Amino acid sequence: LKEDGRRGVTILGSTGSIGCNTVELVEARPDLYRIEALTAHSRVEILAGQARRLKPRLAVVADESAYGALKDALAGTGIAVAAGPAAVVEAAQLPADWVMASIVGAAGLAPTLAAVRRGAVVGLANKECLVCAGALMTAEVAAHGATLLPVDSEHSAIFQVLDATQPQAVEKIVLTASGGPFRDRTLAEMEGMTPEQAVAHPNWSMGAKISVDSASMMNKGLELIEAHHLFAMPEERIDIVVHPQSVIHSMVSYVDGSVLAQLGSPDMRTPIAYALGWPKRIFAPAPRLDLAAIGQLTFQAPDSERFPALRLARTALQTGGSAPTVLNAANEVAVQAFLARRIGFLDIARVVEETLETVEPVTPSSIDDVLEQDLRARRCADAIIARRGKR
Ligand code: NAD
Ligand code: MG
Repeated sequence: LKEDGRRGVTILGSTGSIGCNTVELVEARPDLYRIEALTAHSRVEILAGQARRLKPRLAVVADESAYGALKDALAGTGIAVAAGPAAVVEAAQLPADWVMASIVGAAGLAPTLAAVRRGAVVGLANKECLVCAGALMTAEVAAHGATLLPVDSEHSAIFQVLDATQPQAVEKIVLTASGGPFRDRTLAEMEGMTPEQAVAHPNWSMGAKISVDSASMMNKGLELIEAHHLFAMPEERIDIVVHPQSVIHSMVSYVDGSVLAQLGSPDMRTPIAYALGWPKRIFAPAPRLDLAAIGQLTFQAPDSERFPALRLARTALQTGGSAPTVLNAANEVAVQAFLARRIGFLDIARVVEETLETVEPVTPSSIDDVLEQDLRARRCADAIIARRGKR
């Protein structure tokens, strides 16, 4: 804590869905928090508005072509302005006590790592960076005395009900999945689904990439790998159950047969507030849970025939080494291609599978190795997509 007793906060990806919710919670408690730095990709208008209200020391756009617009928008405010991926890393290096990692995709790896390396408390929304570089990330966290607090709602739930003092008492972790917008669709129907249909999630309002991941259930596959790293839990002790209402956010089963769950409305402000206030709880303006109004909570087994991404993620985690890195990179490329209407919805999992079959898994020993495998997988997925387009 800084001299005035307030927690210094940096938000990496402040203009996104998670970022804007975090800004809202921070803004509501000027007595608890002050903002050190804000970063975004290119949405200058939103970033500049946040910066004018919250007065960070530094505001950064990753996209260099947006520098001039940001500089003009913040002229006369005294807020330092910078641009480019290296400047995002520099923002993460400023001495904030608490850092929200809410950049989407492996682009968040370097800045998240920079925050970890100075021993910060990191609220981790950016699951892709744990999928991409899990073992090395957790080693860096341990080496630098950093703290990773899960922001993903499922992992926040587990974190809240997991008794870390007796890991041997934990039998398994159960991740709940909404099943996404295509939960009850047939494979034939899914083949023709558009980006608009894929991003229309029934319960959660989120960025485009994670919305498509929810529709393919790759999101749950990424979360399986995320849970494995966050809670040191072997793959075979992490179950997935489909729970369409998204009220139970996840569960932990203990050796005595007890199952502990965390419940709440599907509103990310709750898990963000848990991480932001940790180890205390702070107010979040999420709708209150009204179980009588909801009436029923239902559950079903996940269907890996219709949602092959679940099987691909489990296999990648079992294979280990760079397989999860390749899975994540290929998925990022395929989701972008789907959003750009270059491939169909079911092609996403096909591209990921073909990339996993093509790129030989290795055991990365450094972050640079991981980034090299990430790049190899991206090139391979690009080539597969280009070939599919020519058919
Ligand atoms: P979003 O697309 O709404 O926001 C992404 C943010 O990252 C934006 O601020 C954007 O400017 C920034 N960004 C994008 N590309 C960048 C780049 N190359 N360099 C620097 N910054 C870049 O996404 P979101 O829904 O807020 O999700 C963010 C992360 O949180 C994802 O990893 C997602 O899986 C995870 N997450 C989101 C939710 C949710 O409800 N939205 C829930 C759980 C986990
Ligand atoms: Mg989640």
